[in-house]
Amino acid sequence: MKHIHRCNKCDKYTMGEVCDCGAKTNTSKPLKYSPNDNLGAYRRKAKLEEYGRRGLI
Ligand SMILES: [Zn+2]
Repeated sequence: MKHIHRCNKCDKYTMGEVCDCGAKTNTSKPLKYSPNDNLGAYRRKAKLEEYGRRGLI
C-alpha cells in the first residue's frame, strides 16, 4: 500500500520519501506532526477523537 507524503519545504504531495526538491517528506497524516499550519484545531480534534476512542465521552 502506498502512502502519500508531503514535502516539508514546498508543500508538494509525492509518493516518495524524498521530494523532487530534495527535501524530506512527511507521511500525510492529519493528526500527526505538521510544522506550521493550523495545528491548534487538529490537536483539539485529535484529543477529542482520542477520548472518544477510549470511551471517555
Ligand atoms: Zn519539495
